[in-house]
Amino acid sequence: MRNTELFDRAQLTTPGGVNSPVRAFRSVGGTPRFIKRAEGPYFWDAEDTRYIDYIGSWGPAIVGHAHPEVVQAVQTAASMGLSFGAPTEGEILMAEEICKLVPSIEQVRLVSSGTEATMSALRLARGATGRDKIIKFEGCYHGHADALLVKAGSGLLTLGNPSSSGVPADFTKHTLVLDYNNTQQLEDTFSSIGDQIACIIVEPVAGNMNLIKATPEFLQTMRRLCTQYGAILIFDEVMCGFRVALGGAQSLYNIKPDLTALGKVIGGGLPVAAFGGRADLMAHMAPLGGVYQAGTLSGNPVAVAAGLTTLKLIQAPGFYENLGAQTSKLAQGMTALAKQAGVSFCADSIGGMFGLYFANQVPSTFAAMMQTDKDQFNRLFHLMLDGGVYLAPSAFEAGFVSAQHDDAIIAATRDVARHAFAQLAA
Ligand SMILES: *Cc1c(COP(=O)(O)O)cnc(C)c1O
Repeated sequence: MRNTELFDRAQLTTPGGVNSPVRAFRSVGGTPRFIKRAEGPYFWDAEDTRYIDYIGSWGPAIVGHAHPEVVQAVQTAASMGLSFGAPTEGEILMAEEICKLVPSIEQVRLVSSGTEATMSALRLARGATGRDKIIKFEGCYHGHADALLVKAGSGLLTLGNPSSSGVPADFTKHTLVLDYNNTQQLEDTFSSIGDQIACIIVEPVAGNMNLIKATPEFLQTMRRLCTQYGAILIFDEVMCGFRVALGGAQSLYNIKPDLTALGKVIGGGLPVAAFGGRADLMAHMAPLGGVYQAGTLSGNPVAVAAGLTTLKLIQAPGFYENLGAQTSKLAQGMTALAKQAGVSFCADSIGGMFGLYFANQVPSTFAAMMQTDKDQFNRLFHLMLDGGVYLAPSAFEAGFVSAQHDDAIIAATRDVARHAFAQLAA
């Protein structure tokens, strides 16, 4: 079957032919690749074309695709039964592992998607504080819960507008949308309505508007303000948790959020996500407290087996040093090649995450990111794809490297990039 045939067929029974919008290539144009199998740093599409994969399932594939130990653990777990609707020892092991690796998490609850994790953390923050208002930042993505599908309104301190149809303005009227990395705006907001704010939710390393790192000052300020005004600080580390460092972004910035949302890597490719934090806050969760949250497949034994094995593999000595070094080699290599070709471009990385920007300097705000050259990115994307390198199909997504991206893979990528930048310069 060809990708085009599959795409035509998919569109008959599935809206847009995909089960998550970015997969449809709307941003970059062209035909999505339908993936048949994956191994290590590669995947193969329906036409048996091989690609070096730089999305890694949008983060989870950190140890490489189909890692034999993960596959073995999943097979063993599956043979013992797929789901019980009753607790298992594996869930305890998973919770213990998360609490050990992320010290701000004293108690944790497992869920099945990042959306559930952030949505539940938000409900908990509101339940625990008795306040309704929440702060999010333009360009951060926290899953598709109603209150979080919000874009900035016009003017400082105006409330956000729904960014999706089907979200009543009534459901977003408590969500304030502020600018990422704007410390002054945070200060101003808290000094006017700080005692009404239930929580701040933030990606401490933003990976859903391409890659933007928070400044230490930005995160330190929100930590101080939350403490001062009795608001809850939620780090959404669904993407950056276990991706930028073993202890997540909070370990790099040395900041302790009250609650953390996790996902992606902790499932190792199967649906596991989690939210957790201070034990006194988690005590508000049902069945102990009045904040309701539940899930038929939460802590699913097969998914937990994949997650636990992945969490074990990432604790191998030197794992993050190696991952960070390979990712930085890729980013610096791409930057150097673009420079040689005379193309206005730069790249940045942190741990196993990278950003590619058609701009003269690495953007630190949403507004700067929106000014990067999207058309140039789309051309690069297709040139790389034609050369067998699969980047995220959007100028506003981050990229991901796995432990299987060794020197030969990075060198092969650079060869394709050299050719691509030459074309872009021509
Ligand atoms: C992917 C992501 C989510 C949503 O997770 P899903 O599992 O897709 O629901 C939430 N927050 C961040 C930061 C993410 O990157």
